[in-house]
Amino acid sequence: MMAKVKESPGKSKRPLIVMKFGGTSVGSAERMQGVAEILREHTRHADVVVVVSAMGGATNMLIRAATQASEGTEEPWKGSRQELARRHREVADQLLSAAEQASVLPRLAEQVKHFEDLCSGFTLLREITPRGMDTLSSLGEVMSATLVAAILRSSGLKSEAVDAIECIVTDDNFGNAGPLFEETGVKTQERLLPLLKRGVIPVVTGFRGATREGVCTTLGRGGSDFSATILGAALDADEVWIWTDVDGVMTADPRLVPEARILPEVSYREAIELSYFGAKVLHPKTIQPVMQKKIPVWIKNSFNPSCPGTKIVHAAKNGQSGIKAITSVKDAVLITMSGRNAISFPQLAARVFNCLYLEEVSTLMVTQSSADNVLCFAIHQADLPRVKAELEKVFELEMLHDYVGVLEVMPKVAIVVTVGENMKGTPGISGRAFGALGRKGINIIAMAQGSSELSISFAVRSADMKDAVKSVHEEFHL
Ligand code: ADP
Ligand code: ASP
Ligand code: MG
Repeated sequence: MMAKVKESPGKSKRPLIVMKFGGTSVGSAERMQGVAEILREHTRHADVVVVVSAMGGATNMLIRAATQASEGTEEPWKGSRQELARRHREVADQLLSAAEQASVLPRLAEQVKHFEDLCSGFTLLREITPRGMDTLSSLGEVMSATLVAAILRSSGLKSEAVDAIECIVTDDNFGNAGPLFEETGVKTQERLLPLLKRGVIPVVTGFRGATREGVCTTLGRGGSDFSATILGAALDADEVWIWTDVDGVMTADPRLVPEARILPEVSYREAIELSYFGAKVLHPKTIQPVMQKKIPVWIKNSFNPSCPGTKIVHAAKNGQSGIKAITSVKDAVLITMSGRNAISFPQLAARVFNCLYLEEVSTLMVTQSSADNVLCFAIHQADLPRVKAELEKVFELEMLHDYVGVLEVMPKVAIVVTVGENMKGTPGISGRAFGALGRKGINIIAMAQGSSELSISFAVRSADMKDAVKSVHEEFHL
């Protein structure tokens, strides 16, 4: 349970909104200027806590530089250092007042120096520790928060950059840390409420937090969305707004289906399902912190701020069609294992899933055929080497004696998922989807539907993914 807000700054008068701006929304001087305009407008009638991502592309560059440094090559990461300094400096030159430049440029230089020190350490050691990687990969957020707060001050608003290390307390699962809600509530309120009370807009670094001991962690790639809802719940905010580069949650990934449509309302459960199965617009854990308090989450377009966007709520209005949206996971593999006649299906399943549990790997889809003791499941391609090694170790003896069928791996598989609360009890949805895929000559390798009927998943060849998503989208007139 999250700590109760002791004091809500003028909550009876002014709503409290947490607004997160993603990488493209802070990707250049022009975009940061746009952020300042949005905040100028909304802070007139609401208290706003801002969460920022790193400038678009910065996190990838930092991770690449760390890897190159650990391989012992200095040249490439020195190039990244120049690039990091140049991009932030360029924004400072264009948007900061002379006084702000005088105080902020040395801070940006210090942050670049921190990058250099960490990379030198990795070069020297020829390795990256997980905690070192988290400190380095989230430096982009530290730099963008410094800049955005200074831009707001330059434009006459009161603002202060806040390192989420001072607010978000997490476990020590570096790279994919989970928040400790109780402690986060206390620290966040202590740090941010006094600022809000003084009319200061806090600009908090997304993506990062810290262990109880104060060691920097990150919340997983794309984790700034999660930062926003963690802070929203900690502050008992009225709403969380996620500003991105599309008009809202769409019926499909607009890069795959250009005719995809904006969904005005989506339920928490639908949003969770969509984000788990690859809809990049939301980090998969985004909804978790706000569910209990039923805090609405809006997805809005910073390039088109007048568009209302998508509202994500506990119970959403549903349209005619049972399916609300289609999503897909591109890089998956299907693993098939058979217990032959020697191992019962429950034993096979128990041991296989224990391996997945130990390796902290989540499944995308599971199917079974009990009669011939066959278990089939899909995982992300990136998890395959670890899972394969663990399964071969655990079933070594059985495989030697041919008790367990050789682990069969089908690579280059995509999982296409239809999502919608309204699918429950609506007959014929799978049939229509099958029909649409069949007419396009797309073979369904496996399929699964949970008893909640919230989603139906189909495994198809990766090469068929785009056509599969498009044809189902068309079939249901989404
Ligand atoms: P940000 O940097 O703001 O966090 P992301 O790139 O992480 O933005 O997420 C936004 C992108 O998600 C969009 O540009 C779009 O290409 C992609 N996307 C994938 N599926 C969907 C969907 N169903 N609805 C909207 N956007 C989607
Ligand atoms: N900058 C981080 C990333 O690229 C977090 C985020 O943008 O949400 O993964
Ligand atoms: Mg994102």
